[in-house]
Amino acid sequence: MERTFITVEEAQDAILGEVGTVGAERVMLTSATGRVLAETVLCPFDSPSFDNSAMDGIAIKHGQSEYALIGESAAGSPFDGQLDDGEAIRIMTGAMVPMGADTVVMRESCEFREDSVRVTEMPTVGANIRRRASSLAAGELVLDVGCQLRAGDIGLLAAFNRPTVSVSRRPKVAVITTGSELVDVGNELQKGQIVNSNAYMLQSLLVADGCEPWILPIVPDDKWQTQHAFDTAIAGADVVVSVGGVSIGDYDFVREVLDSRADGMEFWKIQMKPGKPLAFGKAGNGTPMLGLPGNPASSFVCYFHFVRPLLLMMQAVSRDEALLPRTEAVLQSDTRSTPKRRQFVTGTFRLGDKPEFTPYSDQSSGNIASISQVNALGSIPVGQSFMSAGDLIEVHLLPK
Ligand code: AMP
Ligand code: MG
Repeated sequence: MERTFITVEEAQDAILGEVGTVGAERVMLTSATGRVLAETVLCPFDSPSFDNSAMDGIAIKHGQSEYALIGESAAGSPFDGQLDDGEAIRIMTGAMVPMGADTVVMRESCEFREDSVRVTEMPTVGANIRRRASSLAAGELVLDVGCQLRAGDIGLLAAFNRPTVSVSRRPKVAVITTGSELVDVGNELQKGQIVNSNAYMLQSLLVADGCEPWILPIVPDDKWQTQHAFDTAIAGADVVVSVGGVSIGDYDFVREVLDSRADGMEFWKIQMKPGKPLAFGKAGNGTPMLGLPGNPASSFVCYFHFVRPLLLMMQAVSRDEALLPRTEAVLQSDTRSTPKRRQFVTGTFRLGDKPEFTPYSDQSSGNIASISQVNALGSIPVGQSFMSAGDLIEVHLLPK
């Protein structure tokens, strides 16, 4: 079915309406970075698990200024005993605070003698002690299903003595690149040929989003070979993403093949630039299929608005988290737009005194350089043909 000029949000609603998740697997912490948590992690024990010192100094029972020094507590070697009134032990950062002590005095406020110590500046009762369970108590929620694991989360899981973690399986994503002009990277280019750069761009994006890319060999503009590639991909992948051949040129077979392999394939002209033509549907076995336009800037922008959210939601990320975060910034240079379509301009977002957005200078969708070293997409609304430097522009932040 052909629907003309639907909005980005309408296309997202259709693609993200009913997303099936891929299931879970258990992995070692060392391979969990970037993966999406598939279990609820509750705190197995109090953190800290014992009262410990936040400073190097002495542990005392508050109340006097002179103490007898009767021992020491170092990290990993606790003092084996109890403090009575008038007794102190030397204590190191992270070491266990002994029974009977209620305060730690930092070393700089102590005058040490042979067997005693005088406190020159007494802190308040309870000072410099990190209390048991003050960060997290046993049974509290540590991390919830659907969060993407980053370095700090991996550290937290390790601190709770978890060598493995259950994460969403990596969706296997077949990438079909089409075009008789395409050549794989590293080969000599003949007249009229170009390198299949989109395959590499998508491979990189897919890995960053926790997926397993499956890059099929380049498909020339030939109906039979296009059919064969889609059938192979549908049978072996969780999602099929094709690039190119989705417009209505003489050699664009992707539309016809997609239509024949799906029930109710949608061919949209999306009210956006770049990335107008986009196809979406589900194959007979339920595999989602997305047909992206071939221009590198178009497939780049379409990936972030349509493909990535689907892939993250398949890994149990919420829809809100799966879409790019938005903010506003001051546009740094005059920018033209096509008033009939919402224009996404690639560029650089920077937090200065005010947030700034600097568009890449040449925004033509065939310009491969416009997708390199950018970290944001500026959005110029429908109806506007021009925005001036100094205007506030909506900005969608790209993942790092
Ligand atoms: P198409 O969508 O097939 O009409 O392609 C639009 C433009 O994008 C053409 O200039 C193609 O040569 C280019 N293009 C298509 N696929 C790729 C690809 N995989 N890598 C780089 N450029 C491509
Ligand atoms: Mg083509």
